[in-house]
Amino acid sequence: MERNEQHKTPQVGPDSTEVAEQPSQPQSHGIDCYIPGQMNISPSHELDHPLSSMTFVDEEAEQLHDDITTPPRVYLSMDMSESIVPPEVRPKPAVPAKPPHVAAPSPTAPHGPSGLGGGVGVDRVPGLGHSGSGSTLLGYIGIDTIIEQMRKKTMKAGFDFNIMIVGQSGLGKSTLVNTLFKSQVSRWSSGWGGEHKIPKTVEIKAVSHVIEEGGVKMKLTVIDTPGFGDLINNENCWDPISKYINEQYEKFLKEEVNIARKKRIPDTRVHCCLYFISPTGHSLRQLDIEFMKHLSRVVNIIPVIAKSDTMTPDEKNEFKHRETMPFAVVGSDKEFQVNGKRVLGRKTAWGVVEVENPNHCEFALLRDFLIRSHLQDLKEVTHNIHYETYRARRLNDNGGLHPISANNTQESNL
Ligand code: GDP
Ligand code: MG
Repeated sequence: MERNEQHKTPQVGPDSTEVAEQPSQPQSHGIDCYIPGQMNISPSHELDHPLSSMTFVDEEAEQLHDDITTPPRVYLSMDMSESIVPPEVRPKPAVPAKPPHVAAPSPTAPHGPSGLGGGVGVDRVPGLGHSGSGSTLLGYIGIDTIIEQMRKKTMKAGFDFNIMIVGQSGLGKSTLVNTLFKSQVSRWSSGWGGEHKIPKTVEIKAVSHVIEEGGVKMKLTVIDTPGFGDLINNENCWDPISKYINEQYEKFLKEEVNIARKKRIPDTRVHCCLYFISPTGHSLRQLDIEFMKHLSRVVNIIPVIAKSDTMTPDEKNEFKHRETMPFAVVGSDKEFQVNGKRVLGRKTAWGVVEVENPNHCEFALLRDFLIRSHLQDLKEVTHNIHYETYRARRLNDNGGLHPISANNTQESNL
């Protein structure tokens, strides 16, 4: 598997040209963005990654989702080269193939999985022999059915995914999440002439929908935030966002430390924050940098260049030259007929920009990354890094596992 593969942005329009390789020394802003597979690394607030050092690498995604073609991985190459060791290539043990008639073990079967941890010695399990420190299987026992067992449980339970959208008003935040989930998951209302208009967001608002696909239910919560940086004085304007994120950690912690805690704690924690960068100008604004610096300590941030169809190829090149920008996206709820197919797109002077066409924009890459290859990773990083950091600090400050008072929520100081 090739690592640190540089990511290229395709361009739209007849005069499309491939963007040159990323500059070797792009700008450094000291921003920690979402790092897949970060669990073995120290919490993100201890790292000082430049946004500019992000590169895209495929790895687990391919193993887990063979059907997806090259989903991107956002890595901060500087640290990943030191922290991520390529998996050791080991010869596979000679295990007899699973007989085709063998199904998942029944829970009532006399030698079912209940034997695990129940005092049954490995030596007495039929089919297991020992060779040195490891063991060689002499027949199929069904370990691999754990995957099917897990699949069934997940299907039954469903899962939560909470995504926050942040950026200036009118950057296409609501449109993009609707495009991502192919439905009206963002807030909308009926405007003049029966047209659906997305209302301007004036406060942080979470809207939940249950989406089902292939028998799997996902409770998707979109947390919409008011136009970020719209005011003249934007000092500390990330505070309400940071406060909201920490409040969700606090809620979760309270449930967790309850003596009679729920079997399944409702998860309102923000798993991912899509940060929308304006397509105007050729680099990040100071406010973008400040926001990402502050918030990357508490949440997974994925920066996107909004409305990338409004940029010329030169402008995009300029942007790319200055910062390594992962996803230049386009959102739309309008369909067009292109080559006999109905596709979501936006009409421009030089033709229809197809949202899902990787030659036109990076929407499909973002979608694959966010949903098809790293959704679970985003949730795990939220739990194991961001929440864990909050929890440790919170319990530490509290002097142990004392009851947590309601007015004790840690806010922007994390
Ligand atoms: P929000 O305030 O950030 O939520 O922005 P909206 O999603 O409400 O979109 C604001 C306006 O921008 C609407 O008229 C959208 O049709 C338009 N828009 C949304 N996404 C795009 C895009 O990718 N490209 C272009 N050119 N316009 C967009
Ligand atoms: Mg909106």
